[in-house]
Amino acid sequence: MAPGPTPLPPEVIAAAAQQMQFARTPTFVAAQEDAIASLRRVAQTEQGEPLIFAATGSGAMASAVTNLVAPGQKVIMASCGNFGERWVKIAADHGVEVVHLAFAWGSQVDPAAVATAVADHPDAEVVFTTQSETSTGVVNDIKAIREAAGDRIIVVDAVSGFGVVDLPMDAWDIDVIVTGSQKGLMTPPGLGIAIAGPRALERADELGSGGYYFGWKRTLDGQNTGRTPFTPAVSLVFQLQVALARIEAEGLDAVFERHRILGRACREGVRALGLEVLADENPEAGVVTGVLAPSETDGKAIMSQLKAQSQIQVAGGQGDLSGKIFRIGHCGWFSFYDILTTLSALELALAALGRDVEVGAGVSAAQRVMAAAAAG
Ligand SMILES: *Cc1c(COP(=O)(O)O)cnc(C)c1O
Repeated sequence: MAPGPTPLPPEVIAAAAQQMQFARTPTFVAAQEDAIASLRRVAQTEQGEPLIFAATGSGAMASAVTNLVAPGQKVIMASCGNFGERWVKIAADHGVEVVHLAFAWGSQVDPAAVATAVADHPDAEVVFTTQSETSTGVVNDIKAIREAAGDRIIVVDAVSGFGVVDLPMDAWDIDVIVTGSQKGLMTPPGLGIAIAGPRALERADELGSGGYYFGWKRTLDGQNTGRTPFTPAVSLVFQLQVALARIEAEGLDAVFERHRILGRACREGVRALGLEVLADENPEAGVVTGVLAPSETDGKAIMSQLKAQSQIQVAGGQGDLSGKIFRIGHCGWFSFYDILTTLSALELALAALGRDVEVGAGVSAAQRVMAAAAAG
């Protein structure tokens, strides 16, 4: 129950259990083309080009910075947690000047502040932000942030939210989405994916600052001719193809709705146990639930208790939130019953830690959410 790496569906596990393929075989090339076509449909884009790197999500993030910004240029970065701040660190590493709009961990990015920064900095041609801030559970209003960014290129880190929370690339005019294989995409870690639209690809070509490995053009040309410029992560691409097929078989809208319900059920469940959710209520927050640890115990003790007593792995807090929160992931291959099991285990863990909990209260609250959803 961590927000990544997430559990693998059986058919995704099975897809790796085969002999290695030479990377130029028609079988592999067809699998990669199929995965790319499927990524396009999940991103709801006609013209966006999914570029697949043997890297993690952070690799795809770094590729967006180096391809779209030359050292010395200025950008706007709007963050509200650990991963949003990672944009700033990558930019600093690349010698980029950053106008950093830093919102508190646990709150959302305010689109009005983005609009002000855009007006104040006409020379900042690219805006970077985060869709699902995995360190807190916050899901930002990307449509509003995009509108606030006006005519600027916008890059969205959707490493945990891609295939989980709706992000229609063309309809919302998003220039770049970056993601990774190991969260909502239910595939092992090791693929960093940047989906770049025409404006972003054109800018990257003009700048030519992407670098030898992460330069977008080299990978795009390779993918388009069935000859990736570097050895692709063959097994992972086969697994990604199968995982994406699963998402499409369930149906995009159904996948988004399932995650909304999982998130709501999880939040109602923890609240019924007298615990507080870190972020303000947001019906779109279906990726991960950040829960404030009750004062008398701490987040790490709850995590250890859950693991020891029930073999359930949740995630801890990052940075300043370490020990103060724990995070229940529900992005990817999760069902209602995973939430019920986790809440049930949480009740027992809290009781074992000496907290006065009414066992069954969390499970019951979550079941009511699910029953209401099933009733429509
Ligand atoms: C996990 C995550 C990342 C980092 O991805 P890695 O694959 O660990 O490099 C970046 N942004 C968000 C929002 C994430 O959830």
